[in-house]
Amino acid sequence: MRQLDSTKQDRIEKSMPRGGVSLLNDPALNKGTAFSESERDALGLRGLLPPRIHTMGEQVARVLENLERKTSDLEKYIYLISLQDRNKTLFYRVLLDNIEKLMPLVYTPTVGQACQEYGHIFRRPRGIFISARDKGRVAEVLRNWPFKDIRIIVVTDGERILGLGDLGANGMGIPVGKLALYTACAGIHPTSSLPVTIDVGTENEELRDDPFYIGLKQRRLRGEAYDELIEEFVMAVREVFPAALIQFEDFANSNAFRLLDRYRGRACAFNDDIQGTASVTLAGLISALRITGRALEDQKFLFVGAGEAGLGAGDLLSEALVARGLSMAEARKRAWFFDSKGLIVAGREGLSGHKLLYAHDFDPMQDLPAIVARLRPTGIIGVSGRPGLFDPQVLRTMAEINERPIVFSLSNPTSKTECTAKEAYKWTDGRSIFASGSPFGPVSFGGRTFSPAQGNNVYIFPGVGLGAIACGALHITDEMFLLAARTLAQKVSQADLEEGRVYPPLKKIREVSLAIAVEVAGLAAERGLATREIPGEPGRYIEQLMYDPAYHFDS
Ligand code: NAD
Repeated sequence: MRQLDSTKQDRIEKSMPRGGVSLLNDPALNKGTAFSESERDALGLRGLLPPRIHTMGEQVARVLENLERKTSDLEKYIYLISLQDRNKTLFYRVLLDNIEKLMPLVYTPTVGQACQEYGHIFRRPRGIFISARDKGRVAEVLRNWPFKDIRIIVVTDGERILGLGDLGANGMGIPVGKLALYTACAGIHPTSSLPVTIDVGTENEELRDDPFYIGLKQRRLRGEAYDELIEEFVMAVREVFPAALIQFEDFANSNAFRLLDRYRGRACAFNDDIQGTASVTLAGLISALRITGRALEDQKFLFVGAGEAGLGAGDLLSEALVARGLSMAEARKRAWFFDSKGLIVAGREGLSGHKLLYAHDFDPMQDLPAIVARLRPTGIIGVSGRPGLFDPQVLRTMAEINERPIVFSLSNPTSKTECTAKEAYKWTDGRSIFASGSPFGPVSFGGRTFSPAQGNNVYIFPGVGLGAIACGALHITDEMFLLAARTLAQKVSQADLEEGRVYPPLKKIREVSLAIAVEVAGLAAERGLATREIPGEPGRYIEQLMYDPAYHFDS
């Protein structure tokens, strides 16, 4: 990687004289039993390793064998993370080559359980923890990070972890997991990324009472004090890591939109729960319409859940419709929202912010099956974090109204899904076009086997991030997410659609990320947001920036 990897040679050279045990303890450089004879001599490793030299392929096989022996997903997660702590190159090789199998372990759903039990499974710290006590010295804290050329930061304050609520400092599992995916899926060099958790306390009493909890045992900082700490963090990033993109992750609704509005124009920043989810959802809808053969403007979508994910998706859907010639007002009429208080309609009390944009003239209603029957949506999109909301009645009604009902049950983790894949097919006579937030295996129904796809943000954020850092984007815009959605949808093949998949298989993820990165970098240049010109053919240039996990400093 010309820019990202400019540090690689430095790292290698700097590492050479260190050698010995410190080399084996350096996860960025350790090769374990794969150190060659001459490396063992040159680096003072002789005797510190067993004599047999293994190839990377053999090491990968050993990791997979060990993984199989673990009896629970959480144990597998712990094993994989400890491998990441020991030998990053091997960890990323294993992850990249087995992405479909390992993604659910490294990320949702297993990461959800890992965050819930973070203090209990704690081995080694990862990333940077900034706590409310660090006010006034956040830049100093960031400077403690050993790598200086940081390009991507994923930051959470742990208040809304997946659909699991406030997990405080335990939320660190999320930035760690997301950044592992940045590396595996878009080739961002592991030493160019930094996971950050801002610990401002937690409202989760059970955690505060847990003797093994890793965070501050206090209620959350709110108001001005909270905003000041976040402001100090963003400014400190600009000072210490000026080339870094900031991805906000799993902040609660009340802060997520505000922080995005505040920082999108002042930093290179985006919110994955709002914009990444919107983009992956829109891509899935575009693919679904290739199955139904209908136009986007002929749809009526009912979002069940009007939070970051739902409203973000509604906004991007509206942008997509405007790009197809509709006025913004007409576009928004295609999106309806149902939240914990019922259908969002004009005149409902207490509506604010983005919700007001979708408060259409309609009778106030609270009962979801009745709403579906009356509103007659072409698609329902579950982003409520409430399991079971798409009950048999809702699904049957969708199947009565539509020949091919679109049913996206996006809530995470699996325990929070609005309906399972099996339920979606069963109650719609196998006619639903289904996607989910957490992975489901193939489902046989009516003599057919469906392989539903996961509407995973991982299809979007790594590519957007890679494109942004390749061109040194000043800002990340909604237009980039719109383009990313279209690019992703184009990567879905006819064969995918026939199997019931509205997203490409995960094994194509690097190809998808590269395509998105090229588009994002191109758009940034067109809009005057790029600070670096991409030399030559963009695809080739960006591809050679991508980190390939392989051992270096072979003799
Ligand atoms: P959020 O807290 O911002 O919003 C949740 C919304 O659900 C709120 O509008 C709330 O009123 C509504 N809700 C709660 N109970 C409800 C009920 N019984 N009936 C109807 N609505 C109800 O959360 P968010 O960030 O929007 O995330 C919501 C869910 O989507 C989470 O489970 C999250 O994991 C999932 N998500 C999935 C993806 C993905 O699959 N790609 C991405 C982001 C978020």
